[in-house]
Amino acid sequence: MPVSDDVVRYEADGAIARVTMNRPEYGNAQNSAMTYALDDALYRAAADDDVAVVVLAGAGRHFSAGHDIGTPGRDIGTAFDRRAGLWWDHVGKPGAQSRYAREQEVYLGMCRRWRELPKPLIAQVHGACIAGGLMLAWVCDLIVAADDAFFADPVVRMGIPGVEYFAHPWVMGPRQAKEFLFLGERISAARAYELGMINRVVPAGRLADEVTEIATKISAMPRLGLALTKKAVNQAEDAMGLQVGMDSVFGLHHLAHAHNAEVGADSLAGHDARSMRDERRRDEQASK
Ligand code: ZN
Repeated sequence: MPVSDDVVRYEADGAIARVTMNRPEYGNAQNSAMTYALDDALYRAAADDDVAVVVLAGAGRHFSAGHDIGTPGRDIGTAFDRRAGLWWDHVGKPGAQSRYAREQEVYLGMCRRWRELPKPLIAQVHGACIAGGLMLAWVCDLIVAADDAFFADPVVRMGIPGVEYFAHPWVMGPRQAKEFLFLGERISAARAYELGMINRVVPAGRLADEVTEIATKISAMPRLGLALTKKAVNQAEDAMGLQVGMDSVFGLHHLAHAHNAEVGADSLAGHDARSMRDERRRDEQASK
């Protein structure tokens, strides 16, 4: 399948490249078409010598509602040219031969690839940043959020221990990660800031300007200095177990998918976007 560019917009403005997820009618739910278009956009930003800093944002009301688990454009049965690793094409394979290969490629593999972008990457987050949306924010170096932003990983409802890019204990600390996952509740931008998960909270109307100001300042730094500094901090995170921890949790994640598929309707315990929303609303009512 060729990569589409209508689901991701790319704009270069001097030293700043802006990459914007563009499925606003679905809260920027990520299908594979979007994943590959994001990869194209980030590759383009990496290759453009004029670009010093990259901003990742979402069009419409939300940054990202997560992975696509129910829009008409859900394309998990579609083959794209793989590029995050050497796992085989998942299409037409049974069970974990398909599911594991696919998630290595489009979720864990792609996120790791983007984390290695040798230029600073800033997440500009407003509205929902849920589940797979967290993965995109977390691979960025800085996260700047509007005061209307909220964050959640509700996939424990599916019996699954968090999203595939399992950075939770590193981005907010182990005890807070457990609370965040066990409850699956939305946390505000202010709370995310308290947890150290994001860099700044700004009024929604100032979000884009604030990010541009930060990006402009950073772009004045020497290119190699920025690339090496980013790598230095990433290596420190890896020395704190990020990479190896994620690999071990990816196995647990797939144990959960396989259990769901073995005992129930599908690997998501029969959930889709609507049922997840309904359960959240029921829990919110019950706790009032
Ligand atoms: Zn999964």
